[in-house]
Formats: sequence, C-alpha cells, structure tokens
Amino acid sequence: MNDNRPEPSNCADVHDRATLEEQRELERNLARHRAAAQQQSRLQPKGYCHYCDEPLREGQLFCDKYCSDDFEYEQSRRAINKKV
Ligand SMILES: [Zn+2]
Repeated sequence: MNDNRPEPSNCADVHDRATLEEQRELERNLARHRAAAQQQSRLQPKGYCHYCDEPLREGQLFCDKYCSDDFEYEQSRRAINKKV
C-alpha cells in the first residue's frame, strides 16, 4: 500500500497551470529565437558590426555579445511587428 502520502488535488492543478504558462512562454521565446537565428544566418561578414558599424576583424558579424543580442532583439521585434 502506498497511501501514507496523500497529495491535495488542487496542488496539482496549480502546478499544471503554471507549467502550461511556462510552456507557452518557452515556445514564444523559441519561435522568436528561431526567427532571429534565421536572420543572422543570412548575414555576411562585412568588416563592420551589423549593429553599431564598428570596424571588425574579418569574419565577424558583431563586435560583442551585446551587439549580437541587441541585433537579435531588433530583428525579433521587426518580425513581430510586421503590420507596417
Ligand atoms: Zn557592435
């Protein structure tokens, strides 16, 4: 017998709702990242940062993670606000 650990059912409900929300948020983030990654994979190194136009070494797209993140963010915003 394994009935010495009763679990309140409403506890499970709250947990289910939380994970569902988390799942949706995760999927939204994933879709956004995928769209941004697609944009970035189409970029060609041009000797300058694609975000702030700083001169870069050959083969680089961005000068650092911040520019890459900001660029990704802008691209994802653009992908979302396509109504223009
Ligand atoms: Zn930059």
